[in-house]
Amino acid sequence: MSFLKEIARRRTFGIISHPDAGKTTLTEKLLLFGGAIQEAGAVKNNKIKKGATSDFMEIERQRGISVATSVLAFIYKDKKINILDTPGHKDFAEDTFRTLTAVDSVIVVIDVAKGVEPQTEKLVEVCRMRSIPMLVFINKLDREGKDAFDLLDEVEQKLGLRVTPMSFPIGMGYDFKGIYNIWEKKLNLFSGDNKQTISEGIEFDDLSNPELDKAVGEIAANTLREEIELISEVYPDFNQEEYLKGELQPVFFGSALNNFGVKELLDAFIEIAPSPQPKKAEERLVDSKENKMTGFVFKIHANMDPKHRDRLAFIKVVSGTFKRNSPYLHVRNGKKVKFSSPNAFFAEKKEIVDESFPGDIVGIHDTGNFKIGDTLTEGEDLNFRGIPSFSPEHFRYVNNADPMKSKQLYKGLDQLMDEGVAQLFILEMNGRRVIGTVGALQFEVIQYRLEHEYGAKCTYENLSVHKACWVEPKDAKSEEFKEFKRVKQRYLAKDKQGQLVFLADSAFTIQMTQSKYPNVKLHFTSEFK
Ligand code: GDP
Repeated sequence: MSFLKEIARRRTFGIISHPDAGKTTLTEKLLLFGGAIQEAGAVKNNKIKKGATSDFMEIERQRGISVATSVLAFIYKDKKINILDTPGHKDFAEDTFRTLTAVDSVIVVIDVAKGVEPQTEKLVEVCRMRSIPMLVFINKLDREGKDAFDLLDEVEQKLGLRVTPMSFPIGMGYDFKGIYNIWEKKLNLFSGDNKQTISEGIEFDDLSNPELDKAVGEIAANTLREEIELISEVYPDFNQEEYLKGELQPVFFGSALNNFGVKELLDAFIEIAPSPQPKKAEERLVDSKENKMTGFVFKIHANMDPKHRDRLAFIKVVSGTFKRNSPYLHVRNGKKVKFSSPNAFFAEKKEIVDESFPGDIVGIHDTGNFKIGDTLTEGEDLNFRGIPSFSPEHFRYVNNADPMKSKQLYKGLDQLMDEGVAQLFILEMNGRRVIGTVGALQFEVIQYRLEHEYGAKCTYENLSVHKACWVEPKDAKSEEFKEFKRVKQRYLAKDKQGQLVFLADSAFTIQMTQSKYPNVKLHFTSEFK
């Protein structure tokens, strides 16, 4: 197959949702369609169970599963589909943000009864900011839920989306009869009462056809006719260009558990979702069709086996063909590297491959050379952007609890930070280390992993920080900036990239500081240029 065909057939995406909306169930049904797995229950849920904070086995179990489900690839109707796992748990939101830099589109899953939930809101906001094309799947239609039109309103208002229904439910919960697929003009009905089997899609180009009354009953048929008419009046028509620009979001209804509406979603998805997109580097825009290989690291996973300290770095191929044993430039450290056993992912297996194409994810064994955000090229000095750090929510001093093991501690901290588990700040004044995390869970993960993987012990000490603000002076030589540095000395630190960070203790402090030093800008993410 030609290089261009390989690109055109790839669909790399992520499924985002609030925990419990049905992401795992939907993923599994998609894999079943691709023939990648044979039975339900094969995809393990990577959810952190309640109470996991003190249950380290649970954390280990979760890490094991999340390696296995990091990338799930399969072929469906000749399309190569790569699903990238995005943890729903809020303490791992940064992982998800980073993964979203490697997807070309997303599917948003919403629970019909719960509607738009907080985690969905946060993740969709990130996608919206980056204009990532989104499809919405409203799940659990077999249960009583909110009225379909109310839900569409909620999606528009809370998520700031512009929706166009591609399918519409007939009834809901106990009365759920099926779905009218507006996109294919087909009716899909449950057959029998058990809601387990689905009839073949019946084509209904024209809903005034009296056969519709026979199929669903007169009342439901008339309601559907009215609803579809209302939809055509109120909502914009589907337009692929607008969808691809992130300006219009098609909505599907269904029930992942009952495998209802999933095939319709998948069929529409492979047709309309984008193939690998161009990606911005600091220097220029890189097109997927360029012949030279470029790619970037968006995730690093530590080995589960503490005896083998190597890690798996996940690289998204942006352009060209990634070849086994070919020398690539690791741009950050200026060295050429070859990979003798790059892994590709298929469903839940990984295997060594000779060639990978744009949109694919390559897993590389790494002994500590890679950091999240690193770029690989064939020699060009290129740096992909878009993997910013956000201000952590929780901050603590980290202390060495075993003076004999300080080397191990610093190495461990260094590597865990490269993996993106948390952020490290070193105070300018006294060199003390401060760890910042998105969730409280990470502190325990770090302590546990330092001990089990590096043989180091640490303790934490509280410190009161509201937000980390990345500092950007208008003029680094100005008196204003010098004064800022002198006055705020105690609260200044460097992040791992050596950028200056102001650890502000309250929102009020930030406000005051901004008005006192208007030419010293404070940013809440590390990437502001
Ligand atoms: P995740 O946290 O988003 O990955 O959600 P899961 O896929 O683990 O689903 C959460 C729960 O909802 C599980 O108990 C599923 O069996 C259930 N569930 C998923 N889809 C449906 C559905 O369509 N109908 C019903 N009734 N339950 C569902």
